[in-house]
Amino acid sequence: MHLSTQVMSLAETVVVQVAQRMTNEVEIASLEKGSTIRVSSSLRKLKPILRNGLLCVGGRLPLANIALSERNPIILPYKGHLTDMFIQYYHEHSNHMGIMYVLGLMREKFWVVKGNAAMMRVLGKCIKCRRVHGKVIEQQMANLPPDRVESGKPPFYRNGVDLFGPFFVKRGRAQIKHWGVIFTCLNMRAIHLEVASNLTSDSFISALRRILARRGQVGMIRCDCGTNFVGSRKVLDSNYEFLGENKVRNELLQCGVEFVFNPPGTSHFGGAWERLIGTVGRVLDVVLGTQQLDYEGLCTLFCEVEATVNSRPLTIVTSDSRDPAPLTPNKL
Ligand SMILES: [Zn+2]
Repeated sequence: MHLSTQVMSLAETVVVQVAQRMTNEVEIASLEKGSTIRVSSSLRKLKPILRNGLLCVGGRLPLANIALSERNPIILPYKGHLTDMFIQYYHEHSNHMGIMYVLGLMREKFWVVKGNAAMMRVLGKCIKCRRVHGKVIEQQMANLPPDRVESGKPPFYRNGVDLFGPFFVKRGRAQIKHWGVIFTCLNMRAIHLEVASNLTSDSFISALRRILARRGQVGMIRCDCGTNFVGSRKVLDSNYEFLGENKVRNELLQCGVEFVFNPPGTSHFGGAWERLIGTVGRVLDVVLGTQQLDYEGLCTLFCEVEATVNSRPLTIVTSDSRDPAPLTPNKL
């Protein structure tokens, strides 16, 4: 179908005539007889007229100084292969523009009955548009593990642990590396931050004892550092080596804490706390900036970041004043 010329070819006119007669035969017959079309007709609002045997929109612009095709656009039925072809042609001709653009472009010559719906039907099937603008299919999430949904346990009973950093801390003229230890409650999504001065067993045990003293009994800790033990220790990041040492295991056993490693190569198992490390990192980046802190400053900053992250809403914040205030880990 070629519409590049302003005047429709005879063949195209005949094709449109056939399509119109197939859907609006009664209306065309009435107009040919010289009478008005029936009240129940869907075309009544368009005040249709017959021009060169074609059904066109009558409208209120017979005196306007515009092109005849624009003044009385040809009516195209809502359904039909021909309508679909015309819409697809204009859509491709306009470099795959959207519904309103194509509809506006077509109005210079054609009036599609129920234009918006017809556009949606045809443009929704355009393969090029679907490929470029189509919605990305989301992966279906698996069921939450029992740790995440178990109720009746105090906060920080089941945790995920991870380390982040390092942070450079001033001591005299020297700069010393420190790390952050993040404990995330798998139930209430609250966090507890501790500072680890180095990556040794003693430093981790100290952090563990601090959380035990302040948050009460910890039942289980999950950690996703399996690869560090399975793979070559020298090649891989050795951040977590100390967690596998017997010293830590003995300490955990004495405190009644079960330590569970996620299987190797399953970083997605730790999504619950990796996500929160991202949030902590964002807050730290903003607050810390380029300034250098001493040890005391870093501890204070961690407490403040902890309070900020634990005040984040867990539920949707609505704009309706009658809705209850959003739930936060601090409230839980
Ligand atoms: Zn397209």
